[in-house]
Amino acid sequence: MNVLVINCGSSSLKYQLINSDTEEVLAKGLCERIGIDGRLVYQKAGLDKETTEAPMPTHKEAIQLVLDALTNPATGAIKSLAEVEAVGHRVVHGGEKFTQSVIINDEVIQAIEECNDLAPLHNPANLIGIRVCMELMPSVKQVAVFDTAFHQTMPAKAYLYGLPIDYYKNYKVRRYGFHGTSHRFVSSHAVEFLGLNPADSKVIVCHLGNGSSISAVVGGKCVDTTMGLTPLEGVVMGTRSGNIDPAIIEYVAKKENLDIPGIMNVLNKKSGLQGMSGVSSDMRDLEAAADGGNEDAKNAIEVLCYGIAKFVGGYAAAMNGVDAIIFTAGIGENDGHVRKKVCSYLGYLGIEIDDAANAKRGEDMVISTPDSKVKVAVLPTNEELAICRDTVALVK
Ligand code: ADP
Repeated sequence: MNVLVINCGSSSLKYQLINSDTEEVLAKGLCERIGIDGRLVYQKAGLDKETTEAPMPTHKEAIQLVLDALTNPATGAIKSLAEVEAVGHRVVHGGEKFTQSVIINDEVIQAIEECNDLAPLHNPANLIGIRVCMELMPSVKQVAVFDTAFHQTMPAKAYLYGLPIDYYKNYKVRRYGFHGTSHRFVSSHAVEFLGLNPADSKVIVCHLGNGSSISAVVGGKCVDTTMGLTPLEGVVMGTRSGNIDPAIIEYVAKKENLDIPGIMNVLNKKSGLQGMSGVSSDMRDLEAAADGGNEDAKNAIEVLCYGIAKFVGGYAAAMNGVDAIIFTAGIGENDGHVRKKVCSYLGYLGIEIDDAANAKRGEDMVISTPDSKVKVAVLPTNEELAICRDTVALVK
């Protein structure tokens, strides 16, 4: 079955067409600058990337261009749209309503809409993608896969904040967690890859990318995670601050004469590795700057690694033990320095890193020594494949 996976943002859209039988990516790409001017990137498997400037006043034109590219007689991956048998959509916020992926119908659309307040930048964009695909492919089943769903197994002690309980009861203010599709994919793959007992394995997943989050997973169920009501909470990220003293908001707002949207913009877009270093949100640039002697860049990396190690320690305590620690996403998969530095804080858990294995890249690999008491591994995430698998499981 061919599944089109769509990740629709406010001005961009990523897509992959996957053959679910072979799990091969037939074509992939993205639309950028939707509503501004418009650029389509399309890549058929085995061929070079093509970039086309094309007007995309709305997501409808963008998705139409993707469908045209997929069925283009010369470079398309399929002959006609009839070969797309299902569409899987990434949806950021499913609130407390969605604990797993679902086939989309009117009721589901309404329930996703009801979560818009919780993710005002993401959910409306995700819904646009869903509606446009339903319009352009009316007979094709559409599935919603939620970033929050995997974390719905957290107990109240992990998801409630120390706030007046009416904020939870009336406004649903609680920890939801994000990157759930990645945490689920990677933690279940870890159990299989490392031969852990599926029923009681204790796994910590460090998803370290532009956005980063860590989760604690017992027997395949999430028991805690670092992101909260929004993706702003947790470790220092590319441009997000992660945890701070909430009183900083008032203090800085007064000093800098900022209103709430102004300060939220700083916390989401101008903080984290970017803000701390003044260099870049990209770990590669930061490491180059640190190697060149930039103290702010060095400190940003130290703060990141120290922060990750503290969460890992906290989750080992929360689970009363840990069998495996997994690194994934852009930084987790590629940056041996960060992995080594994080693990340098974890000697008390009996962790020993094999430097030769840690220097490798691009594959599933164990990076701890055979004697290490906790297994440490690098497992590349694949959220699109996870969305494809969920979609097939629901529509078959
Ligand atoms: P997103 O959250 O946008 O999906 P990714 O998972 O692609 O992000 O991760 C992006 C991050 O991965 C960036 O900080 C980038 O610097 C980092 N990264 C990618 N390749 C490397 C590398 N070879 N070494 C260090 N960091 C890397």
